[in-house]
Amino acid sequence: MSPAIMGAACTRRSIFLRLLSVAVVGSLFGCSGSFSFNPFVWFQSPSPVVFPWDSISPPLIVPAVELLDPAPILMGSPPAPGRYDQDLDVIHYDIELVVPQENDRVSSRTVIRYVRKRAGPHSVTLDFSGLSTELVTVQGLPVEFTHKDGLIRLDSPGRPGVFDTLQVEVMARGMPDDGLILRNNLHGAPTAFADNWPNRARSWFPSNDHPSDKATVSVTVHAPLGKVVVSNGVQVGEPMPAELQRTGGIDGLVTWRWETRVPISTYLMVIGVADMEVMDNGLAACGLAPASLRQDGCIEVSSWAFPPDTANARQAFSRAGEMIDLYATLFGPFPFEKLANIQSSTVFGGMENASAIFYSEETIARGADIEGRLAHEIVHQWFGDSVTPAYWPHLWLSEGFASYFGPFFWAQTLSNVTFQERIDAIRDRYLASSVTDRPILDGGVTNLMQLLNENSYEKGSLVLHMLRNVVGERAFFDGVRRYYRRHAGGNVTTGDFQIAMEETYGQSLDWFFHQWVRRPGYPILRVEWTWDETLDQARVRVAQEQDLLWPTFRIPVVFEFLMEGGVHRVEEWVDGREWTEVLPLPSRPTEMRLDPGGWLLFERAGGAQQMSMPPGQAP
Ligand SMILES: [Zn+2]
Repeated sequence: MSPAIMGAACTRRSIFLRLLSVAVVGSLFGCSGSFSFNPFVWFQSPSPVVFPWDSISPPLIVPAVELLDPAPILMGSPPAPGRYDQDLDVIHYDIELVVPQENDRVSSRTVIRYVRKRAGPHSVTLDFSGLSTELVTVQGLPVEFTHKDGLIRLDSPGRPGVFDTLQVEVMARGMPDDGLILRNNLHGAPTAFADNWPNRARSWFPSNDHPSDKATVSVTVHAPLGKVVVSNGVQVGEPMPAELQRTGGIDGLVTWRWETRVPISTYLMVIGVADMEVMDNGLAACGLAPASLRQDGCIEVSSWAFPPDTANARQAFSRAGEMIDLYATLFGPFPFEKLANIQSSTVFGGMENASAIFYSEETIARGADIEGRLAHEIVHQWFGDSVTPAYWPHLWLSEGFASYFGPFFWAQTLSNVTFQERIDAIRDRYLASSVTDRPILDGGVTNLMQLLNENSYEKGSLVLHMLRNVVGERAFFDGVRRYYRRHAGGNVTTGDFQIAMEETYGQSLDWFFHQWVRRPGYPILRVEWTWDETLDQARVRVAQEQDLLWPTFRIPVVFEFLMEGGVHRVEEWVDGREWTEVLPLPSRPTEMRLDPGGWLLFERAGGAQQMSMPPGQAP
């Protein structure tokens, strides 16, 4: 098949594509105008960031771990097995877009730069569904390609040598069917906001649209005068009047350019184009921000909002810097170049796009308290965005972490009671959900949106809470930091987290991850106890009455006995469907409570208070 550009009419928008390709094909195919332009000089890949792990100050909250691995060089990661050529690793996307005044069609030019791991010919496959492809070049030369069923396919000729780069350029235009949402915001002003989760980046730029193939990204947007453009990474230079030839002759556009120094997954690569005010929220993560370009080693924190909503946004995002500082201390360095919190017209309440978090326009406009969401999305910068699940079913490594550590902000700034209340609420939501018959690692999910469920969020965060209880405070936080340090900028599966935790705990946790992550359900406990007056001992029976298809759980249970003069606690490992134990006590208890610290995920058979006193014996 030949590129469609050969037969295209010489309209204003088609000029854009023709002009961009002039350096490649050497002529304007009869359209008027003359200039020279070499796209491969203009688009420069930023240099990768190296995390200076050795210079990290010890966290304030928990003791530091010993230093482990050499600092990773963040070149991105290769694609997961599947539809993509395993010997082609995308290392950089250079995306150029014309987003015109009206919400109609966009024109785009995307350069995909690969590292080739072997010499010889390659079959290049790119996910791309939203726009019509008009021209594809490889190393600057037009090539035959097909574009159907959401895939661009082409063959690249072989070249000698290994570890060299391959550069594919795709010119396209049209109305994105998804991913880049062009619509009026709630104030009636035209906006364009990317919304890629889970695999919708392909709707507006050609890509290896899978979280396992990270790359750096540069974005150039030609947007109407009066709009601002925000994206991942750092802004490069000041906005400039767009060169007419780059916009296909559309006048009055302004060119904005952003780029990342840190590789990220495609679902996190976004742009926002709108009439927005930008508010400075100060600096954060000072000394813990290796990707920052600032001399002082801090990141800039900013808020972006539609003009009628700036006061609400200022309030909503005011504590972002505090949160970043807390989490940089708790986990390790902030992974990206800056952090912008942005009011947006998208489908999610909040979306953790790397260094450019999008929040629902409605919640900001009505002045809702979104500090919980803010903390959740900020935690994602470390877990989800920097340490990214390699495959979708491991989503709990992103959502479970954000759901668990988000409330930590209040635990540190207010009281532990607040944190416990949030854990209790998380437990209640999971127990009331319809997904308890499915495991967290659910290979049976076909619609990725279904992974946004109480297993990924609520049960995932309770797994972390229970793990903290099993391994202890020090091993838990050391393990989390070790896991982050080892995998920052990379991709993970649940096994990677398990390994880091086992290393700090010193024992196998296979049983723990198996019962809580790989199997469905939770313990349903029937608890009975009797008191032997002559021997001063309680006889406790715990039966696990959950469905037989659910695992038989091994859990550390604290039995708390209330008695005259105080409280007596006994911790026992409960396992097996039937468990009994005789517990000597200092005096006759009046009541027994299970798990008074609220660490466990379980339900009492027949009601919460059942058998809290020995049957037939008045206290
Ligand atoms: Zn989340």
